Amino acid sequence: MGIALHNRAIYNDLNYPLVSSNGDSFMLKTHTCGELTLEHVGQHVTLAGWVNRRRDHGGLIFVDLRDRFGITQVTIDSDATAEAHDVAGQLRSEYVVQVSGDVRKRPPGFENPNLATGAVEVIAEEIKILSPARTPPFYISGNADDVEEALRLKYRYLDLRRPRMLANLVLRHRMVRMIREYLSARDFLEIETPILLKSTPEGARDFVVPSRMHAHRFYALPQSPQQLKQLFMVAGIERYFQIARCFRDEDLRADRQPEFTQLDLEMSFVEAEDVRALIEEMLIELSGEISPKRIQQVPFPVLTYAEAMERYGVDRPDLRFGQTLFDVTEDVRHSEFAVFRNAAASGGQVKGVVYPGGADLPRREIDELTDFVKQYGAKGLVWIGVTGEIPANGPIPAEALRSQTAKFLSADELRAMISRSQANTGDLILLVAADPGVTAQSLSNLRLEIGRRAGLIDQNVLAYCWITDFPLLEYDDELQRWQAVHHPFTSARDEDWSLLESDPGAVHAKAYDVVLNGWEIGGGSIRIHRTDLQYRLFRTLQISEEEAEAQFGHLLEAFQYGAPPHGGIALGIDRMAAIYAETPSIRDVIAFPKTAAGTDLMVNAPSPVTEAQLRELHIMLRPEKDGGD
Ligand code: ASP
Repeated sequence: MGIALHNRAIYNDLNYPLVSSNGDSFMLKTHTCGELTLEHVGQHVTLAGWVNRRRDHGGLIFVDLRDRFGITQVTIDSDATAEAHDVAGQLRSEYVVQVSGDVRKRPPGFENPNLATGAVEVIAEEIKILSPARTPPFYISGNADDVEEALRLKYRYLDLRRPRMLANLVLRHRMVRMIREYLSARDFLEIETPILLKSTPEGARDFVVPSRMHAHRFYALPQSPQQLKQLFMVAGIERYFQIARCFRDEDLRADRQPEFTQLDLEMSFVEAEDVRALIEEMLIELSGEISPKRIQQVPFPVLTYAEAMERYGVDRPDLRFGQTLFDVTEDVRHSEFAVFRNAAASGGQVKGVVYPGGADLPRREIDELTDFVKQYGAKGLVWIGVTGEIPANGPIPAEALRSQTAKFLSADELRAMISRSQANTGDLILLVAADPGVTAQSLSNLRLEIGRRAGLIDQNVLAYCWITDFPLLEYDDELQRWQAVHHPFTSARDEDWSLLESDPGAVHAKAYDVVLNGWEIGGGSIRIHRTDLQYRLFRTLQISEEEAEAQFGHLLEAFQYGAPPHGGIALGIDRMAAIYAETPSIRDVIAFPKTAAGTDLMVNAPSPVTEAQLRELHIMLRPEKDGGD
């Protein structure tokens, strides 16, 4: 499609001048397009870059020349340089050119204060076209964010030319550089681990790679370097980190990637508090360097898993606003209102959240909120607007409440609700009655929705917190057995080991997550370093000794050669970069991301392989309907 540019005699010659800026390194430019100021006036310079924009006023042509560092205005006057003017006449957007000329102060009134180089211009003497360009599928200089993302991904190299995307890559680079410096200064060694490996259980499916040399054998790409970093501890490394690529073959949800990057870290001779302190200090330093936002609270708040679930209904609470959940289950246990009474009687909960100033929300909006919680399994939403003074005793006057349900509730029940919710006159109380899982899901999401609708979220802060004391195990109803909440190498709290066989669900883990603005940005734990305890946990997980040996024999054996107590964490670099860059999608901070369906639209992956490749790999393909659906 389009014109084959390679046939066009548009390059004026192949000898572009090499210029020296510092005497010994020769480049095609003396300066970047972002650095010329009044200081350079009178100097002869050579710039090279892309034509951002060209304005043709006949005798006078202006070219905004762009490179990674900025934009400089080049002025071409036909009176002064007929030849350069000729070339400038051929220029189109995104042509790559080299321009030589003198730096001149712009005439008064023509300065551009929005541009770092806006006080000057380069008066072209010579222009060379280094590379012509087709008309790009979207404007580079404009705001391509309204362009369909599929087009941006197909032409990712053009998308990345845009200043916003470039800025994201720069931010990510600075972030990773700071992390490396911070950890290196604290005796951490950055060590690479293999990509061709064996199944590493982090709870997702593995990507597998067939072996040509070993018929019917497969490598698995690591879901994380978990076992390897633990082996580093046995090896005596004591402090390890890696900016590690991890691979998880999950059904992709909106903002997941099949491969992603973690800061992976492990330390010996530490407790959970030591790992947390190291990471907290790093995040404080990093935030100060990378983000203009202030950290909401230092030291970071620490919530146990149970506290987070009770107050926020979720283990990654967004602490940028209040509106904590409240629980009235006990107050309505004997209520005449059957929905509440039945929920309380069947092990469920009646919990709620306040919509500040929402007492007179239009009915349409309340209905929207009801539909909203229904997505999360709630059967409905009970709403009570506080429209007037509530007397301390006696009956509550009808005009003090706006509600269809209030008439089924006693004055004491209503008073308990108002007091537990701390609702004021003008607020709307919203309640869900359901089993604890549904209550948590619907109210945690409703809380966020209220935060968004009522503009409660402070956009200028970074609200970090730690979540600790996770349960070690959760029961999988489908598989009918206990599963590790974090991963099967996480240690129980010392005092809880005795419960492992008798009451597995009551065992707490030495695990911690770090949360930022409602996103889990990392998690880790103190590990089991004793073979006997590791086997005990495997038994509880119904992993047989044979299975354990086949899968993790290397680790179990290693523990018999002197394993130090150790623990670590992994932080999601993509998610952190997206939050710091204030972009909603991690795809915006990954150079070449995959779509939500796991495809790469630029190189067109995944793609079929040839019959010859399959033969070498000893693979015969089954019809599609056999699997993968
Ligand atoms: N390997 C864990 C993960 O990827 C993190 C850790 O426990 O260090 O989630």
